[in-house]
Amino acid sequence: MSNMVKETGFYDTLGVKPNATPDELKKAYRKLALKYHPDKNPTEGEKFKQISQAYEVLSDAKKRDLYDRGGEKAIKEGGTGGGGGGGSFASPMDIFDLFFGGGSRMHRERKGKNVVHQISVTLEDLYNGATKKLSVQKNCICDKCEGRGSRKGALQMCMSCHGTGMQVRMHQLLPGMVQQMSTVCHSCQGQGQRFNQKDRCKTCGGRKMLRQKKIMDVHIDKGMKDGQKIVFHGEGDQEPGLEPGDIIIVIDLQEHTFFTRRGQDLFMSMELQLVEALCGFKRPVQTLDNRTLLVTSHPGELIKPGDTKCVLNEGMPTYRRPFEKGRLIINFSVVFPPANFLSKHKLRELARYLPGKTDAEQPESMDEDLYIYADLEDCDLESRKRHRHQYYYMNEDDYASTGGVQCHTS
Ligand SMILES: [Zn+2]
Ligand SMILES: [Zn+2]
Repeated sequence: MSNMVKETGFYDTLGVKPNATPDELKKAYRKLALKYHPDKNPTEGEKFKQISQAYEVLSDAKKRDLYDRGGEKAIKEGGTGGGGGGGSFASPMDIFDLFFGGGSRMHRERKGKNVVHQISVTLEDLYNGATKKLSVQKNCICDKCEGRGSRKGALQMCMSCHGTGMQVRMHQLLPGMVQQMSTVCHSCQGQGQRFNQKDRCKTCGGRKMLRQKKIMDVHIDKGMKDGQKIVFHGEGDQEPGLEPGDIIIVIDLQEHTFFTRRGQDLFMSMELQLVEALCGFKRPVQTLDNRTLLVTSHPGELIKPGDTKCVLNEGMPTYRRPFEKGRLIINFSVVFPPANFLSKHKLRELARYLPGKTDAEQPESMDEDLYIYADLEDCDLESRKRHRHQYYYMNEDDYASTGGVQCHTS
């Protein structure tokens, strides 16, 4: 994936970099969609739509490529041609429902709304398993009136629509040309039934529904993943005459101080002193279930800067097979001692133990006048351009006499 994208608007909307992986895109969409969903943030409909459109484009490899090359304009024009109608976007709700596993809206017309919640968990929770309490608001059918909205037996057929829920109106378009229009009955809101105000249910005020708070016990199983969904079937919004929707809980993993998870493996970095890297070490590592591993490198084994080693079976447990664990992967860095940590004669002694300098490069055999001393300076790759620039202002003689070799990188 190249970084040369035409514009970054969609990436900015999701708060990711243009080289974001599909997983990063998913996570960004997940967080923002839940935050700005109209259920939680009724005034942010426009934002919710933007997030949805950005995700719709970037989650589709073809559309993403088109966007990267041609920007939003290319998407709106439909680019590839075969799209038929070009760049129309799906409804934000459909994108949301597909993402969070509710199936498309059409598919579950006969069900109440799904309620989606995110639950924040630690890596420890996913390692050990946990039970979390989550408070959820949902619509329930009023149990006082059993969803009628009125006293039992108080319902009467709506006289405006004769119980059909629809009203037919004649609409004259032109003299002699009449259009028949069906509209939802105003008197009963399409219910076909009405009741007197005095019979109205006092618990729900005739709305048939109540907003209820429910405390849920959410079981986090060992080995579950960031973004994984836990579905409580039939626990979502209730609506008279419909099957209740689901409650969908989405796991949101918080970053851990020491460990990063990738698949079943845990990654950590370890900083060694030079003496440990050369002569061996024992380092305690606290596991996610509070055991102490003594990570050991025996004398004679050697760790080089940038080495990666692993401890088997100390990674994450596998979902539904918790006894199968991944690896703990350790990336090593080596801290060198500070400058002048040893006196000069001690250094000469130390040099005797370390593999030799190559004799051919020893200067003794050469005539002093034939070479230029080149001292090493700190080299900041970020400002390399600036260094280069400086060279232009030095004439050749200055360059040679100061020996300003700073940074010869390819
Ligand atoms: Zn009616
Ligand atoms: Zn009621």
